[in-house]
Amino acid sequence: MVRTRFAPSPTGELHIGNARTALFAYLYARKNGGRFILRLEDTDVGRSKPEYSDAIIEDLKWLHIDYDEGPYKQSERLQIYKEYLNKLVEMDLVYECFCSPTELEERRKIALKSGKPPVYDGRCAQLTEEKKNSLKSSGKGFTYRFKFSKFDIIEFEDVIRKKVVFNPKIMGDPILVRADGVPAYNFACTIDDMLMGITDVIRGEDLLDQTPRQIAILKAFNAPIPRYAHLPLIMGRGKKPLSKRDGSTSVLEFKQQGFLAEALVNYLYRLGFSPPTEKQILTIDEMIEYFELERVSPSPAVFDLSKLRFINREVIRLKDEGQLLNMFRMFLNGDSKEIDDRFVKVFKDEIFTLSELRDASSFIFDDGFNPNYTAEIMKKSKFYLDRILTLEILNVFVSSLCEDGFDEMNIRKFIEAKGLKPLSVFMLIRLALSAREKGPSLADIVRLLGAERVKKRIELISRCL
Ligand code: GLU
Repeated sequence: MVRTRFAPSPTGELHIGNARTALFAYLYARKNGGRFILRLEDTDVGRSKPEYSDAIIEDLKWLHIDYDEGPYKQSERLQIYKEYLNKLVEMDLVYECFCSPTELEERRKIALKSGKPPVYDGRCAQLTEEKKNSLKSSGKGFTYRFKFSKFDIIEFEDVIRKKVVFNPKIMGDPILVRADGVPAYNFACTIDDMLMGITDVIRGEDLLDQTPRQIAILKAFNAPIPRYAHLPLIMGRGKKPLSKRDGSTSVLEFKQQGFLAEALVNYLYRLGFSPPTEKQILTIDEMIEYFELERVSPSPAVFDLSKLRFINREVIRLKDEGQLLNMFRMFLNGDSKEIDDRFVKVFKDEIFTLSELRDASSFIFDDGFNPNYTAEIMKKSKFYLDRILTLEILNVFVSSLCEDGFDEMNIRKFIEAKGLKPLSVFMLIRLALSAREKGPSLADIVRLLGAERVKKRIELISRCL
């Protein structure tokens, strides 16, 4: 039975790169009738925060990436890691290292300067019992290092990267347990993957060089080695990993900007994977059906905001109008009578994200209407005719209003009689109603505002022209 996991460290908000990792691990489990597990790797007390754990859980829920087991918290499993450390001590596969972080950092710098790989040289593996005891009694702290360099070449077949080969002899012995007794990432993660029966480890490529260390630990315990799939990173500007300098990077930020969960998931799905279908927006079931981990591209995926926006627009258009009504009301913080089914029908085609709704629809609300401002916009427009003619146009328009729209023929007759350009005339009316050149059709605007409000507004504007 396939068992995959998502194992974020709750040290910040859910990054969209991690959300993609979660999605792929989830899809793979679903595709294979397996189980998807959430594990919070929160042993780093300095950097992990419970709020981040909660936020990650919240974001996964919002994205509909549902886990079958968990959330397991590593901070509640410290006793387990201690037991497994003792087993490694018994097997003589770890040693105590008394080198302080400052010493290590100094040596690292020296190594880098002289062009050598900055890896731990293994010196503490040689300490005698006597020396160790005297260091301990002098109060010196120590970490536990894994005798990784005793292992021969480690080779594995990554689902995406294909064959990967590492030589432990040149990689240094990693710390498994820190001086404060807290297990390091490699240790806790590996023990958990083993105990939780993870069959497929799907994660970001940034962790690729940790994998041989983890495989060695598993070998020490004679545990089965899972399949590994390292997903290429998501790149931002300048082919560098997507980060803050590229703008928004967290799921929460996208949510707050009015991206819909379905859009984000559909977009992430296509980062490095292209499903064999013409259909643009897929349901989660379709995503599961088409998903093939083996076909994920090994080259980095470049984040493209305009593509995400396009997908979001499509998702908004395809959404059920009842659901949209609620979302629109939430984003506009209101349930005023203006936001009704008609409003949804009109504005769902005008926006790429829900947060654009406020600006796109502001003119519909009375507190978004300002006759002085509107008159200024009209006068500045290249469509502005002279004042008298403009007032005449507005008059004809008002007299063409009927209960649920306006009589366009009436306006066209006037245009013809005066020898005007239809574009200019209709643009002036549009500017008067919305103070902008683009937006919903005039008929929709009139219907949304209602003839009475239109009349009143034109009256006020006319005074300001
Ligand atoms: N906790 C690790 C991280 O967030 C990932 C663990 C893993 O997937 O192996 O970077």
